[in-house]
Amino acid sequence: MNTQSGPLLSVRDLRTYFLMDEGVVKAVDGVSFDVHAGQIFGIVGESGCGKSVTIKSILRIVEDPGKIVQGQILLRRPRRDGTSGDEELDLVGLDAHGPEIRGIRGGQIALIPQEPMSSFSPVHTIGNQIIEAIMLHQSIGKQAARDLARDLLRDVGVPMPERRLDEYSWQLSGGLRQRAIIAMALCCNPRLLIADEPTTAVDVTTQAQVLRLLRELQREHNSAIIFITHDLGVIAQMASFVTVMYLGLVMEQGPVDDIFHAPKHPYTQALLRSIPSVKSQPRVNLPTISGSIPHPFNKPVGCPFHPRCIKRMPGRCDVRTPALQAVGESQRVSCFLYHDAEVPE
Ligand code: SF4
Repeated sequence: MNTQSGPLLSVRDLRTYFLMDEGVVKAVDGVSFDVHAGQIFGIVGESGCGKSVTIKSILRIVEDPGKIVQGQILLRRPRRDGTSGDEELDLVGLDAHGPEIRGIRGGQIALIPQEPMSSFSPVHTIGNQIIEAIMLHQSIGKQAARDLARDLLRDVGVPMPERRLDEYSWQLSGGLRQRAIIAMALCCNPRLLIADEPTTAVDVTTQAQVLRLLRELQREHNSAIIFITHDLGVIAQMASFVTVMYLGLVMEQGPVDDIFHAPKHPYTQALLRSIPSVKSQPRVNLPTISGSIPHPFNKPVGCPFHPRCIKRMPGRCDVRTPALQAVGESQRVSCFLYHDAEVPE
């Protein structure tokens, strides 16, 4: 399909299930969102909410026995026949091991992983790994690729980039490793960067530097970024739009400003209460969300959040599952406090 405008990535009713002997884990169970060029789009939730499986589904790297059982992942990309404009491709229809998705991964869409130490091979230099990634996607010679790798390292703030090219990942500090992995992700000018908790493995100072760098890169290159985190505080600094996930479902979606000023879903409200602020009293514990995330084989009937929700309505929230519905001008919420629409059986 030819298309000149619209979202860069459109995820439609995505369902990724793990079909196991013990039962079916519905890790992602009907998630939809759009990401536009130049947008930083946050996906937030506790571990086990489905955010990592969502991005693995987009990259088509879900491991067995996981399977995309329904939905579309529509990517807008330059037309392959060389004419101007874009075309839309459904990534779900591609062979997960085929050349087309391999070209898209690292080319159109690049991943900045949580743990850069395990992303670089310890037995090859940083330079050789970035050069290999460049030459995989671009028809340029080795010296030109080396020059580009050096420039990328310099652009992401790695000092003495020429020397770093010949070093190994274990010789770099955590902050420099994270910058080097960002350089590798950028090497083919991706339209979409996926940053999966990119500051988990670094200290607070480095975290602030990495977040600033990502914002600068997004502005300079007009790339879109999907930013995955469990931390709504980081989302507030980074994203313009956010999706809040819980147990594989979207609880709330909307512009970050609206969700921070007027959170509607009780889960979003609870997440926001648990963010430390300058007004927090020293040595006073922050509010936490009562209970814990249910075992994936034991998902509650009805609203998935009802066992932990302080506003649950017995006889309603524990029987029916609320659908995601528009509430107000910009937000969408899955909660019976705001509407009566439910997910069909
Ligand atoms: Fe709470 Fe009910 Fe809303 Fe679920 S539907 S979040 S249980 S009030």
